[in-house]
Amino acid sequence: MSQLVTTLTDLIGDTPLLELSRYGAHRGLNARILAKLETRNPVGSVKDRIAWAIIRDAEERGLLHPGGEIVDVTSGNTGIALGAIAASRGYTSIFYASDNISPDKLALLRAFGARIVKVPNTFFLDPDALVLLRTRAQEENPGAFFADQLSNPVNPRFHYETTGPEIWQATDGQVDILVGGVGTGGTLSGAGRYLKEHKPSVRVVAAEPGLGSVPTPENPYPKEIDGVHNVTEALPQQLPDNLDRALLDEIVALETDDAFAASRALAREEGLLAGTSAGAIVHVATLLAQRAENAGKTIVVVIPDSGERYLSAGIYDDDDRVPAEQLVGAAAE
Ligand code: PMP
Repeated sequence: MSQLVTTLTDLIGDTPLLELSRYGAHRGLNARILAKLETRNPVGSVKDRIAWAIIRDAEERGLLHPGGEIVDVTSGNTGIALGAIAASRGYTSIFYASDNISPDKLALLRAFGARIVKVPNTFFLDPDALVLLRTRAQEENPGAFFADQLSNPVNPRFHYETTGPEIWQATDGQVDILVGGVGTGGTLSGAGRYLKEHKPSVRVVAAEPGLGSVPTPENPYPKEIDGVHNVTEALPQQLPDNLDRALLDEIVALETDDAFAASRALAREEGLLAGTSAGAIVHVATLLAQRAENAGKTIVVVIPDSGERYLSAGIYDDDDRVPAEQLVGAAAE
């Protein structure tokens, strides 16, 4: 049914599940993979949920006033969501982002009028990077409301209140495995807790980028997967407070190129443009679906954002395209 709403945030949540039928059939998978399309949120990512929940909570607690400013440390999607919702409610916004932020995401942040402070990616080599950056952002913007997606408990709570129940209802409780990535940990901790409370056998699995994607002094700009971290390699102080590690039944590592390949497969087999973390998550779901013990099971994957946010990163530019000269030649024949 079509909807009439009066404010952008009324459109957040209630995202659909799309069964990856062709993708599954092509690989002979015996488990079904259902993709929760967080791309259908009004600003285009899973982060619309927490940005709205955090802003609403701050308004209710009197921490954010008309004309106020919102600040956070963000890899992109949270800033984009906070920036857009700030614009829709008359606030300004300022974000601290790594200097290797994707050009597409930077352009989106600017489109919503957000101001950006770029932080050298090498800064994240410091084991205390997250804490230091958080402190710096707060000190430099003393009057602003600090959203604090990494530690604000509103983040996992909102996933517990919305994402989890939506998956439960859409599947009629027929969910066995939930796969996601860990950025702040909000999605898996919140939705995972809800699902486990309703069905203790549900397994919560994190897809994590492999060794090649962690910045090192020799390679400070690795081919990263935006928005998700390597939980196993991280030092305890690098893990976000919003990640409840006890909820993770398994952490499956993968190569960045496998994530990109899965994003391409989704585009070409399902017509679904999904971002790089979505590719990582679907790749891990595929590995799980191939295990004999998971035959007949239902795996829900969260698609955090769209591939449109990574077009300039070239994730769809693999070598199977026809070279331009060949096309010219063909036309002449
Ligand atoms: N994928 C992308 C592209 C993201 O931006 C994020 C959030 N940083 C995630 C996955 C992970 O979500 P969460 O913060 O809920 O762990």
